[in-house]
Amino acid sequence: MPKNLQDTVKLNNGVHMPWFGLGVYKAQEGDEVVSAVKAAIRAGYRSIDTAAAYNNEEGVGQAVREAMEENGLRRDQLFITSKVWNSNQGYETTLQAFETSLNKLNLEYIDLFLVHWPVKGKYKETWRALEKVYKEGKVRAIGVSNFQIHHLEDLLSEAEVVPAVNQVELHPQLTQKELLTYCQGKGIQLEAWSPLGQGHLLKNDTLVSIGKKYGKTAAQVILRWDLQVGVITIPKSVNEGRIIENADIFDFELSAEDIAAIDGLNQNKRFGSDPDNFNF
Ligand code: NAD
Repeated sequence: MPKNLQDTVKLNNGVHMPWFGLGVYKAQEGDEVVSAVKAAIRAGYRSIDTAAAYNNEEGVGQAVREAMEENGLRRDQLFITSKVWNSNQGYETTLQAFETSLNKLNLEYIDLFLVHWPVKGKYKETWRALEKVYKEGKVRAIGVSNFQIHHLEDLLSEAEVVPAVNQVELHPQLTQKELLTYCQGKGIQLEAWSPLGQGHLLKNDTLVSIGKKYGKTAAQVILRWDLQVGVITIPKSVNEGRIIENADIFDFELSAEDIAAIDGLNQNKRFGSDPDNFNF
């Protein structure tokens, strides 16, 4: 069980990834994303999750460089994730997209690079390109996002490198237990996107009342639950107070009974798109 904000999980290739990070989807390129990432690193965050599609990789890179300087951190103390967008999937186009992300971030390397969505007929070629940049040492780990079990089975039938991470929508109304068990069996670390249900779960009575017992907010209860069930989590906020609040989850432990009550909220409900039925 992670004991603090900097604690890491060892991925299947030996690379250590923080259990907790900042998501920056919809954080605007420029001042907004720069100040959010810097606030997070100041507060002790060490992992940032961006993507080519978020159009803020330049700001993320700038913030990382400034924060390293201001907080006396080395590059190897931070963990940066980005992702190849769907329109760039395919072998050559992914190789180019990787270089574009690296240039925009303006960092020596990326820690984790993901296939953003399982685009039919393309994701295996995309994966071959990720395997190439991984073998060249330009990225420390490679993984996927929004892959269901059947996508992983299909990928693993030909892959040379087993994905280190699968980042999927996961929260108390979409607990993804089957996928979690499957990924654990294959050595693939599951990571939760939209852990707060994009904010929709924060007034849930069960979560609020569990929080009251521990003196914590519903957001903190959810994020603590992620860690206790073995899932990496990357809540998004650009508000410094909330960035700090979300990470203040290392001083309490949910009881087995409360974990079960949160698991019981599952409705297989998605706030985002369905990986088996998306058109972008
Ligand atoms: P989220 O569940 O993290 O919720 C974010 C929303 O909750 C924001 O509106 C924020 O203002 C609000 N919020 C955050 N903390 C709060 C607090 N303590 N109190 C009240 N409100 C609070 O949703 P998300 O941004 O969709 O997901 C998190 C990250 O996951 C993204 O930023 C992105 O990095 C990643 N993501 C990945 C994919 C993918 O396809 N791989 C898709 C969506 C998101």
